[in-house]
Amino acid sequence: MKITLSAIKADIGGIGGHTRPSDELVEAVRKFVAKSAKGFLIDYYIGYTGDDIHIIMTHTHGVDNEKIHKLAWDAFTEGTKLAKEQGLYGAGQDLLVDAFSGNVKGMGPGVAEIEMEERPSEVFCIFAADKTEPGAFNFPLWRTFVDARSNTGLLINEKLAEGVTFRIMDVEAGKVADLKLWQDKPELEAALMYPGRYVIHSIYSADGEQIVSASTDRLHNIAGTYVGKDDPIAIVRTQKNFPATEEAGSAFNTPHYVAGNTRGSHHMPLMPVKLNSAASLNYSIPIVSCLLFSMHNGKLTGPHDGFGTADWDLQRTRASEMAMIMRNQGFIHPATLIPDELEYQKGYNARMDKLKSRFKDLEEKKPYKGKAGKR
Ligand SMILES: [Mg+2]
Repeated sequence: MKITLSAIKADIGGIGGHTRPSDELVEAVRKFVAKSAKGFLIDYYIGYTGDDIHIIMTHTHGVDNEKIHKLAWDAFTEGTKLAKEQGLYGAGQDLLVDAFSGNVKGMGPGVAEIEMEERPSEVFCIFAADKTEPGAFNFPLWRTFVDARSNTGLLINEKLAEGVTFRIMDVEAGKVADLKLWQDKPELEAALMYPGRYVIHSIYSADGEQIVSASTDRLHNIAGTYVGKDDPIAIVRTQKNFPATEEAGSAFNTPHYVAGNTRGSHHMPLMPVKLNSAASLNYSIPIVSCLLFSMHNGKLTGPHDGFGTADWDLQRTRASEMAMIMRNQGFIHPATLIPDELEYQKGYNARMDKLKSRFKDLEEKKPYKGKAGKR
């Protein structure tokens, strides 16, 4: 029996800003999913990372299933009603269209899905991030599947040593390329170099088994105008012929700078956090949580909190320090993103239009004389 694992997430409102959903909001989404699950889903789990609520579902209906996507859409729509009643900030902000039409992809919510023949002990991690962009997973997934310094399994596990195939999406052109290790390593790395443009869509073993699925929709391409950072979610299957759970998890142990944060316009480090953590008021440091599950016949055991153990406090401290280093240089790039990546592009362009009108050829300019002369 093939089991499909669907992880669908959306930001439908936060308390006092882009922090976290209210308990009542999470409960409203959970209730809706519970009501719809009977006879349709095998199992489900609802949680949140920052202001994003994720719905994890197991079922037998395959990927891109209209009814599964509609269930998630309707749950988020139902939740939005409560978010509005509570006056939560950004109520329904990730539901970009008025009516559901077949598939939540392109409508705002992020989706990661894998249909699989369950292994006797099926285990997987779900990485759910907030205040960043899909390319935030480029570096940790490169560490897991390409970098032997990070993952000895790439040398001593026969299957991993054969090399995986990365499916990379060009998020601006909407096209994908399959790059096979080890022969395509330089091209793969050239793509991963710019996470704002090229994003890991999925990863397959040499035998064609899907190991990774990641959400890749960019909201500003969907909506025509930038409406928010498209916080990613990814499923990574682990153990046996796949990376060990701790090889996948430890790829997040050197917080790296990603795009996002306050106003979606800055670079800050990706901080591993505990399950159901709020986003930080310290300029919205990007965060990622790790939900570990075991699954048998589609029934879930977990989640165990992957970044919940004491040692991850060190990474949180490091990320906080790195965040301060970047914040200390204020608005000066690379603390801020390049103009094309700014969430607040309109405001920036308004400043630039004014600025451009002030520029003249140097030869036309008379020496500046301060108050005595005319500017
Ligand atoms: Mg968010």
